[in-house]
Amino acid sequence: MDAKDKNVIHVKKFMDGRMSPQELHRALGIRKKCEQCGAPAAVRIRVLVELAELVKRQPEFVAQIMATNQNGPYVPTIDTKYGKMVKISDVGACENCRKSAEIAAARGPSWCIVEIDRGPSPTNPVSGQVPNAGGDKPE
Ligand SMILES: [Zn+2]
Repeated sequence: MDAKDKNVIHVKKFMDGRMSPQELHRALGIRKKCEQCGAPAAVRIRVLVELAELVKRQPEFVAQIMATNQNGPYVPTIDTKYGKMVKISDVGACENCRKSAEIAAARGPSWCIVEIDRGPSPTNPVSGQVPNAGGDKPE
């Protein structure tokens, strides 16, 4: 038996076959419903903006976040490999609505980062943070 065969057996025996890695991730990792149809979400899409960039471009929005933050007058941030980011949106999408939700998220301004958590998959073993392709090209 070579290493390839071992991998196949390992995947088949995941959770004794009770659920797939994808199903476990949906149950424990995403914990969201599809924004569009309410089905259990298969992916989570977050739109993030660098705090300094947001202060520069949308000062009123930053002031609004600070004014409405129940924990105090500050902007909650998330540490990412791109620095401190502010979460602009955080939605789930099911397998059926995934495409349109990802397209909608990618239409944001180019100074946003779209983070798509697709969970474990044979073709996409590691989900990551990708810079937005840019939806705010000059018209
Ligand atoms: Zn859906």
